[in-house]
Amino acid sequence: MVYNANEDRYQSMKYNRVGRSGLKLPAISLGLWHNFGGVNQFENGRNMVTRAFDLGITHFDLANNYGPPPGSAEEVFGEILKKDLLAYRDELIISTKAGYNMWPGPYGEWGSRKYLISSLDQSLKRMDLDYVDIFYSHRFDPETPLEETMMTLDHIVRSGKALYVGISNYTAEETAEAISILGSLGTPLLIHQPSYSMLNRWIENGLQDVLEDNGVGSIAFCPLAQGLLTNKYLHGIPEDSRAKSASVFLGEENITPEMLRKVHALNQLAAARGQSLAQFALAWVLRSGKVTSALIGASRVSQIEENVQALNMLDFTAEELNRVETILNT
Ligand code: NDP
Repeated sequence: MVYNANEDRYQSMKYNRVGRSGLKLPAISLGLWHNFGGVNQFENGRNMVTRAFDLGITHFDLANNYGPPPGSAEEVFGEILKKDLLAYRDELIISTKAGYNMWPGPYGEWGSRKYLISSLDQSLKRMDLDYVDIFYSHRFDPETPLEETMMTLDHIVRSGKALYVGISNYTAEETAEAISILGSLGTPLLIHQPSYSMLNRWIENGLQDVLEDNGVGSIAFCPLAQGLLTNKYLHGIPEDSRAKSASVFLGEENITPEMLRKVHALNQLAAARGQSLAQFALAWVLRSGKVTSALIGASRVSQIEENVQALNMLDFTAEELNRVETILNT
């Protein structure tokens, strides 16, 4: 079937400027870490990507190792592009990353020039693209001089293989250094991709200040704590959930009685505002305007449809914010 994008796709999405750059990202972006691998059902992934685009989600986030098997999410996304979205390439922001283990031997992970350039070349081949919009160093490499990693990012932009560069999972101190090196090279750091949610607030401890002071944007991954901050686990652990899946990143052991007590209390607070817990959690991540985009994952179209509705109510009263703090701290 020929896909024609929804003509109203830009009516309801909110687009936020990324730091002090010229680029805007949708307030909600879609990541392809889970559910888009070679082991997953292609048509489901395809429907999620096209529905997301119809809802104004212009940004799709990948990495070399997303799958399983590693690399297959890029292949699947390349296939979706070819079938449905190539005509819309200039309306899309596609990102990929390198940093984690991708192939055997000393050049298959971390932050050397050798690894980053080879990996990006592989990613472009898998997606059948000439360039990505954003290329990330996926993690700080304690052994490679940061100058080498940043000079490689600068080179990648100058060679036209990426339009912008970002870093992910770097601490506040590492980020400040990366900003300074990239600035001196003339390729400003566009964006940082850290984890952030009501259950994981490490970026409030320094990183957000570094980003704000330097005009760098941020895109928060796992804003729903992989599904914990949704109604998914309120009444048991569904068979078709990430916690029951083969994913090693979320297991049944993470769904503790203490966690569930908090999630139930947050769910009540969300309901009082007329939001689902997922919508509430996304609005909270976006609440102060410090986060450019909330980077969600999804296993079905209905989740994306529910989650974008978070944008209908992003404001919080001081009392609501205080109640969140009380729930999280008791
Ligand atoms: P989320 O915290 O958004 O979790 C997504 C999962 O939550 C879904 O797969 C689904 O799980 C569940 N979910 C989502 N919406 C709903 C809903 N409305 N109702 C019920 N359940 C819902 O993010 P992810 O952990 O998926 O990560 C998002 C993206 O962030 C990744 O795809 C990737 O692009 C990026 N990322 C980056 C990392 C990095 O190191 N830079 C690390 C990790 C992620 P279920 O399958 O159970 O239905």
